Amino acid sequence: MVVVLKNNAPADLTGELISELKGKNLDVQINTGVDRTVLGLLGDVTIIDPDALETQHPIIEKVLKVSEPYKKANIRFHPEPTVVNVSGNTIGDKKKLALIAGPCSVESEEQIIEVAKGVKAAGAKFLRGGAYKPRTSPYAFQGMQFEGLKLLKEAKEVTGLPIVSEIMSASHIDMFNQYVDVFQVGARNMQNFEMLKELGKVDKPILLKRGLANTLEELLMSAEYIMSGGNENVILCERGVRTFETYTRNTLDISAIPALKKMTHLPVVIDPSHACGMSWMVEPLAKAAVAAGADGLIIEVHNNPKKALCDGQQSLTIEQYEHLVNKIKKIADIEERSI
Ligand code: PEP
Ligand code: MN
Repeated sequence: MVVVLKNNAPADLTGELISELKGKNLDVQINTGVDRTVLGLLGDVTIIDPDALETQHPIIEKVLKVSEPYKKANIRFHPEPTVVNVSGNTIGDKKKLALIAGPCSVESEEQIIEVAKGVKAAGAKFLRGGAYKPRTSPYAFQGMQFEGLKLLKEAKEVTGLPIVSEIMSASHIDMFNQYVDVFQVGARNMQNFEMLKELGKVDKPILLKRGLANTLEELLMSAEYIMSGGNENVILCERGVRTFETYTRNTLDISAIPALKKMTHLPVVIDPSHACGMSWMVEPLAKAAVAAGADGLIIEVHNNPKKALCDGQQSLTIEQYEHLVNKIKKIADIEERSI
């Protein structure tokens, strides 16, 4: 249930209303907007009679029932967009496009430093790189694991770029806390509910990727697991879904951008690399995503894609990434967004 207060409702009356609601054993989420406050109520809201509440408290504009199962992630609970801030680098700011780039996997010191410097020079504000890789085959390269995390930290020291890396097990949380700025939850783990619960206790943003065949509502319910645990800094990522089409690795669901913008206040970033699986198609999909209102792009870049140990066919060279960023800037400019 959502209680929308009137413009500039007095603080003392707002406080009284909040205490009354808390006294009914409800969890009250207070969202103070530019000119009005919205209260999100969680718990057994059946004890609330909306008409009676409105009559008793003239500061209330309206009381809305939230029928969707996602509450904290719901735009009605939190009408202002969430802006995730990692030491001054934002994701979700209407005026800024967030660029995240880097290799699928960390492979060596030379590789990650070269890519980190290259993507930074091109305009990226975050470095991605997998240390623990979810591979279909147990015989495929599994990532450099802890050594990979150490190299990511070194790349951060050299470039200042915050690190985004995928976590595959809740048992790694303490370790990741020391090396990573944004925890990525991969598509395959979107519904690893026990891990999501643990990530709810983490004090760093979570980039949550949409599962291979999951609905937007399921994606938001996974975000809700993290948020209901106390971590409200969730970034959603559309990375293509499974369809009957086999030409591309997955099918990029562009409609997820406007749909999610209607459903939630959380930032939405697009991963065109995993969506199409082919480097030549990354740029057109990235342009489409920005034009459709994505808050950011996460793109795979490698210093030598032909020799990459993972996802080389979809990785851009540093030069191709620079080219893409220049194109993207022009689209962002039209909407007065910068990178
Ligand atoms: C990745 O980002 O390298 C990755 C494995 O992505 P996804 O979980 O979307 O497949
Ligand atoms: Mn990859």
